[in-house]
Amino acid sequence: MKWTRKKLIDSYLNFFKNNGHAVIPSASLIPEHDPTVLFTTAGMHPLVPFLLGQPHPLGKRLTSVQACIRTGDIDSVGDTYHHTFFEMLGNWSLGDYFKEDAIKCSFEFLTKVLKIPKEKLAITCFAGDENAEEDKEACQIWISLGIPNERIAFLQKEDNWWGPAGKTGPCGPDTEIFYWQSDKPAPKSFNPKDKSWVEIWNIVFMQYNKDENGRYNLAKQKNIDTGMGVERILAALNKTGDDYLTEVFLPIIKKIENLSKKKYGANEQDTRAMRIIADHSKAAVFILSERVIPSNTEHGYVLRRLIRRAIRHSRILNMPKMFMKNLAECVIEIYGGDYPELIKHKDFIFEEIEKEESRFNETISSGLKYFDRIAKISKQKLSGKDAFLLYQSYGFPIEMTVELAKERNLGVDTEGFESEQTRHQELSRTATAGRFKSGLSDTSEQTTKLHTATHLLNQALRIVLKKPDIRQKGSNITAERLRFDFNFERKLTEDELKKIEELVNEKIREAIPVKKEEMTIEEAKKTAHGVFEHKYGEKVFVYSIGDFSKEICAGPHVSNTKELGHFKIIKEEGVAAGVRRIKAILK
Ligand code: ATP
Ligand code: MG
Repeated sequence: MKWTRKKLIDSYLNFFKNNGHAVIPSASLIPEHDPTVLFTTAGMHPLVPFLLGQPHPLGKRLTSVQACIRTGDIDSVGDTYHHTFFEMLGNWSLGDYFKEDAIKCSFEFLTKVLKIPKEKLAITCFAGDENAEEDKEACQIWISLGIPNERIAFLQKEDNWWGPAGKTGPCGPDTEIFYWQSDKPAPKSFNPKDKSWVEIWNIVFMQYNKDENGRYNLAKQKNIDTGMGVERILAALNKTGDDYLTEVFLPIIKKIENLSKKKYGANEQDTRAMRIIADHSKAAVFILSERVIPSNTEHGYVLRRLIRRAIRHSRILNMPKMFMKNLAECVIEIYGGDYPELIKHKDFIFEEIEKEESRFNETISSGLKYFDRIAKISKQKLSGKDAFLLYQSYGFPIEMTVELAKERNLGVDTEGFESEQTRHQELSRTATAGRFKSGLSDTSEQTTKLHTATHLLNQALRIVLKKPDIRQKGSNITAERLRFDFNFERKLTEDELKKIEELVNEKIREAIPVKKEEMTIEEAKKTAHGVFEHKYGEKVFVYSIGDFSKEICAGPHVSNTKELGHFKIIKEEGVAAGVRRIKAILK
């Protein structure tokens, strides 16, 4: 019997639903309130506040399938089971069931529902160290379920431990389940280093709380957090021995075979290139579906890096110059039913992916030639200057230069690259400052006023546009004006702009005192808006303007809104997909 992705996901969610878990939807690929990471990397990510103790509205048992992106795994892509984009099945207990039930549930799901023979499974448990004891309990539970001793390995913190997310907080040992993915019979004794054992499921036991002094205390609320990759399980269930031969990749691989006139599996180098192209196109399409556009910073940079690396590998296969749209179509075909934003933003995805593709097509050949030339004359290491030139003039992401160099057993002076980059940005910033005369460090009385006005504007936007999730996407204040970027899909109408102005001016007339409080980021997150570029446990300032606005912010601000004068919007425009910009002044 063939296991489809859909059947697997439905079976998982139903199994846990029948076990009292509420099904929660997949959160956005870009975390809403946590810029400490660019992308959602696991199912637990959107649940962090609840794992920290905040009650979840749907109860103590939750389950989901979560779309994830792991930029840290980009360099591992090329093997059979690491992907940049993947889907993670997960179940959580927030202070409810613990070790025994969690392990038993996972085992029952794998062996009874999916009917994976237990002879193909192996387990790792935490070995114990000076802070926390060996996880004998988990091991005993596995043995009681019929896993032989020789199939259980004990590993250290780097393999079998999770957290805390920041300096302090919940953490604990985990147990990982491995599947034997080779045609050969599984060896009696488990060697975790043998690559035929693929990790399929991780069960974390958050039983400790690390405190300020570095001590691991038993946690008041013990949580379970699990994660299992859809692609790896699909490969196991259908005995393909390779995630790329399952339905979530095969149509993309077929298309690449078609376009390159090469066969998947025929030789190692081409096969690896095909995997990278398939994986990166998929991840790129998902990032584009969040309305990100390729750029040189943050999400846009990851997107650019993925598209350009796919293109570079397409040259190894002699693929046609424009192929990305064809692959994007395959991705949308596979996932469109479950991710409606892929369909909704289809035209945007095609347009942006082709734009980036033709842009890089213009420079890649001469860039590769330049690289060849300098690689020949470089000893051991490429200089930072050369890496920067490849970046600046030929659009080679630094990671691409590093990869190209590695293929020739060369290193790259990445520190040198970074200082070149900083020096360059410094130059352009000085040039900008020269032109506009007022820099970012200007904290005069006028900029302080404009800063407070920015908070009023932010809240007025949420109210007038009836969109409570409006967030700051950027802000720049000079002595003359404020500039505020925020997430919104369309141009604002004249009427809306008027209403926003009026609301801000009303709050100025009300002469509201501005209050400053210090609290932990966890407390702040409960009530305040803001850019959460903070670590857990860190203290932050929250500025409140009556009960109208509450924002996490470093300040400074005026002490009363009456000091602001009259607020006027001078311009509204689009700056990127889904991002609008308002410029305003105080008279
Ligand atoms: P690995 O050691 O294989 O990289 P991991 O320890 O990083 O895995 P976890 O962070 O424990 O994995 O994630 C939980 C599960 O999610 C894994 O057991 C695996 O099934 C899946 N998973 C993790 N990373 C990836 C990836 N890059 N591609 C596909 N599936 C993944
Ligand atoms: Mg990993």
